[in-house]
Amino acid sequence: MKQTVAFSKNAVNVFFHILTGCNLHCRHCYINPEQHGTQTLPIDLIEKWLGLFAARAKEANVIFLGGEPTLHPELSQAVRAARRLGYRSITVDTNGYLFNDFLDRVSPEEIDAVSFSLDGPTAAINDTIRGEGCFDRCVSGIRQAVARGFSTSLIYTVSRENLHALKEMPALLDELGVERFFIQVIGIRGKSASGEFVGSQLSREEWTRVVPAVAKKAAESGRVVSYPKVFLEPGEVFECAGNVAENYFIFPNGRVYRCPLCEDFPIHGMQIHEGHLVRRSKINEEDLFSLQIPEGCVMNKLVQPDNLEYDKEGRPLYRIACCLLKEELRP
Ligand code: SF4
Ligand code: SF4
Repeated sequence: MKQTVAFSKNAVNVFFHILTGCNLHCRHCYINPEQHGTQTLPIDLIEKWLGLFAARAKEANVIFLGGEPTLHPELSQAVRAARRLGYRSITVDTNGYLFNDFLDRVSPEEIDAVSFSLDGPTAAINDTIRGEGCFDRCVSGIRQAVARGFSTSLIYTVSRENLHALKEMPALLDELGVERFFIQVIGIRGKSASGEFVGSQLSREEWTRVVPAVAKKAAESGRVVSYPKVFLEPGEVFECAGNVAENYFIFPNGRVYRCPLCEDFPIHGMQIHEGHLVRRSKINEEDLFSLQIPEGCVMNKLVQPDNLEYDKEGRPLYRIACCLLKEELRP
């Protein structure tokens, strides 16, 4: 099976938002135009910025995303530039609309995975979150990609609105022929933080009752499944990906974050400035990575603490894992 993004220790992932524009208005969208800008990067800058990370390219997985990256008319050229630079794997994350005849403009040999975002096994569930008509378009996009021989994955963002339907996903993945399944937990940022998705975070009981069992079931039919542990058991090691992996979240305004939970704030650790990748002076997100708190992830406690529980003495009942270090089930 081809390589794609790796949510593991020592992984190098370059999440490249080549634009922030999108045709959809998902209620949980994490794009924050005030912080991430509204630009579409021209292809020459995309190629230059890919080159800034080329020293690590042989170990790095690049993920093109947006907004909706297929709205960029030169996405296929960006894919080829990443290939030329020697990136270890190339993935395109899409909402499934596949604009600009994207699948006609790249071949399955040039791209390691086309990754589709779908948040429900039916239109009734998915479209309540992502918008009317979007389930049918996304499923049709997956079918086209599979029929043409592309390796495909599906990302399901779990919130209180769609947890109950997660168990129906393995059958849909089987029917569609999707090779990988990424389950991710809702992050309270962008629109979710501004109140459009109130009460969407899950409790430990809700998460652990449903998610690991569905992940196991989805892996049984021969696919790789990745899901975040979220709630660590006593004795399990907490690690911050900021210390043990290299993840870069690049935005078209030049901000480069190491942690996605920081993206609503101007605390990015790096910046692309006049063609150079520069470290920003303190204080920034990187100062948070070494902090040890009894709740585990520092940013979780700061921006989305509703998933925490405490005993009568005020001690946390568990620690929250890093959202970038996930469990992986292989067939
Ligand atoms: S979540 Fe993705 S598909 Fe949905 S509006 Fe935001 S950028 Fe577009
Ligand atoms: S999510 Fe938490 S643990 Fe993971 S990189 Fe960010 S601050 Fe570190």
